[in-house]
Formats: sequence, structure tokens, C-alpha cells
Amino acid sequence: MTDAWASLMPTYAPAPVTFVRGKGSRLFDADGRAYLDFIGGLAVTSLGHAHPVVAEALATQARTLLHVSNLFRNELAPEVATTIDRLLGGGGRVFFCNSGAEANECAIKLARRWAGRRSAGPGSGTAGPGRHGVVSLEQSFHGRTLAAMAATGQPAKQAPFQPLPPGFRSIAIGDSAALAEALSTGGVGAVLLEPLQGEGGVNEVPDEWLVEVRALCDASDVLLVLDEVQTGLGRTGRWFGFEHSGIRPDVVTLAKALGNGVPVGACWARAEVADAFVPGDHGTTFGGQPLALAAARAVLEVMEAEDVSSRAAKAGDHLRSALLPLPGVASVRGRGLLLAAELAGRPSADVTAAALGRGLVVQAVTPTAVRLAPSLLVAEAEIDEAVAILAAVLGDVPPVGGPA
Ligand SMILES: *Cc1c(COP(=O)(O)O)cnc(C)c1O
Repeated sequence: MTDAWASLMPTYAPAPVTFVRGKGSRLFDADGRAYLDFIGGLAVTSLGHAHPVVAEALATQARTLLHVSNLFRNELAPEVATTIDRLLGGGGRVFFCNSGAEANECAIKLARRWAGRRSAGPGSGTAGPGRHGVVSLEQSFHGRTLAAMAATGQPAKQAPFQPLPPGFRSIAIGDSAALAEALSTGGVGAVLLEPLQGEGGVNEVPDEWLVEVRALCDASDVLLVLDEVQTGLGRTGRWFGFEHSGIRPDVVTLAKALGNGVPVGACWARAEVADAFVPGDHGTTFGGQPLALAAARAVLEVMEAEDVSSRAAKAGDHLRSALLPLPGVASVRGRGLLLAAELAGRPSADVTAAALGRGLVVQAVTPTAVRLAPSLLVAEAEIDEAVAILAAVLGDVPPVGGPA
């Protein structure tokens, strides 16, 4: 038997299930079997599948105008940018792109341009190479393009692709001494971090430490860039992950939930930072096109109307307290509806495979932890149903080395 998947590059080993349809928190496979989706396409479908308002906006826009390129104005770009800026507290400007990695590439290029102008003095047209450095965190994830991967503090992901662009180094979460040391070299233009690490294992970054990071950046005139590609737009129970700490970032990157499944990303920066770019410095063919922004506009409207942050906070509390007492769950970490259950001795890959068999979609975020990132509109009854499935699965999958 030939495998049609062999026509794809072997970058993924997808689970043996083919989803053909979705509605709200449910997915349906080719045989019509229903699943509860508690990973949401990796924290992307924050409003659930086939949301009627988003679907209608896309259909209408598809019949109207898909794309004109950034050589011309379109009606949606300023409108969506203004909404994103308002949600971020105002005073900034937005660059639209197509993915999280692209949003971070924009942030990294912007930081170089800003730092170059800073060193060379205002009005300078040339970037100084002196402060191109970026400090990020161990276990972070910023994307798969070369610079975003260089910032990703996971040596295993980087090793096959050396040499990577120079100037990137990562420090441990909470290590203020290492950060101060890195900044003291004078070669750093930006600190880039996720306020709660998603792909790296749902690792919490203490709020008090973020306050310290902000102060260290200020003391060294270094930009604080927050990668909110996964945490942004309500996921953690606030509009943005940084709001829990009360700090103000200089640059924020967004993507995953912004289009509820339509590829769209954004890089926001304080106006003074954003203005380091001049026409020609950065660009994209598709970014900011009417179709993607029609999705983003609809998503943001629904998110505001439904108050998704509050819902995520409440639903997240419910999910966490339902998970904690399960035999087989050692601890729960994360915030809002971005949670990881650390399993007591069970390989997470076995648990996610067994969960899929019982109709629950979750993801093995580390070899010993399962990530849950359902729709922010998930119902309490759906949470209870998912937790019941997980409880049954943990009963099926024996812990390594005997009962725990
Ligand atoms: C997913 C993710 C990215 C990369 O986004 P892509 O759209 O896959 O390029 C970057 N940063 C964070 C925090 C992410 O979770």
C-alpha cells in the first residue's frame, strides 16, 4: 500500500486521524466520529471551529476583495491595527504578517534598526552592527525561521541547522544575574521572551521577575520584546500575558489566535520604536491583506463582545481544579486556558494517543506533560467531559515502574 503522506516532506509525523469538519469545541473525523478538541490547533482556534461570525466575515470578504498588496491602501489594515493598539494600551503602530515566526522576525529586524539608530544618533540612515544582540530564555519557542530559531532556547532544535545567525543567547528563567551580565556587554538591543512559555512545556515566568527584566532593560536602554504569539488575545485570562505583571513592553508579537485559524500575525511596537523603520526596510506580499484582516477584525469583535479573557480565567480555574485531583496528575501549571498537566510517571505520548482513541484531542508538550488549550468559549460541561475522558485514559495507561 502506498502512503499518500509520502508526498509531504517528513517534517511531521501526524496522528492517524483525518479531521474533516469542526464546530465549536468539537472536531469530526472522516468516519463521522466526534472528538473534543482541547488543543485548538495549537492555541489557534480560540473561538472554536467554524465560528459563524468569522465564517461569514470570510465569505463576504472572499466575494469582495482578497488581496491588493501593500503597494496600495486597504480599508481593513488601519481599522484592525487601531483595535490591536487600543487593546495594547495605545501609542503604538502595527506591522501585519502571516505567522508567529514572521512577527518575531519583524521584531528582531526592528530592534536592530532601532538600536542602530540609537547608537548612530537620530536621523541616521544606517544600522550600527554594535547592538544587534538578542537575549532570550532557555526552553523558549519563537518559531522555525533562522533568526526566530536562533532565539529559540532549545539547542536540540538548533543543532542540525548550525551555523545560525550570530548574536543570540539564552538565559534561564529568573536568572537576573545572567541577564544583567548579558546586558552589560553593550552588544544587546533586545530581550525577547514569552510571558508564559507555550511550546517549551508551559513554563511559568514569575510576574515579579518580569518586573525585574523590565527594569534591567530600562537601565541598559534595551527593548523588551514580548512574544505573545501563544499567550496573547485572552488565552491566559487577560488580554495579554504581560498584564498579569503590570509591566509595559516596547514590542509585542501576535499570531496564533488572531485569525482563529486564518494565517495572520502582527508585530506591535511603541510609536517611537516603530518609527525606526522607513519604507523599504521590511515587507511582505500577503501580510495585511483584506482576507486575513477580515478574519482578524471579526475575531477581535467576537473576543471583545464575549469578554474572552474573563471567560478564559474562569474556565481555566474550573479546568485546573478538575485536573488536580486526578490520580495520575502530579501537578498543573500555566494560566487561564493554557495549562499543562504533569503526569505521574506516564509517558505523555501514550496518554495523548489513548485520549485520541477515546475522542479527546490533547498534546504531549513534554515527554511527561500534556498541554490543554481549548477554545476560550469552551463550556463547563465540555471541560467536565474532557476531564472524565482523561481520568479514564490515565486509568488505562499504567505508570512506568508500577502504580502511582
Ligand atoms: C507558535 C509560536 C511561534 C511560531 O508561530 P508560527 O506561526 O508557527 O510561525 C512563535 N512564538 C510562540 C510563543 C509560539 O507559540
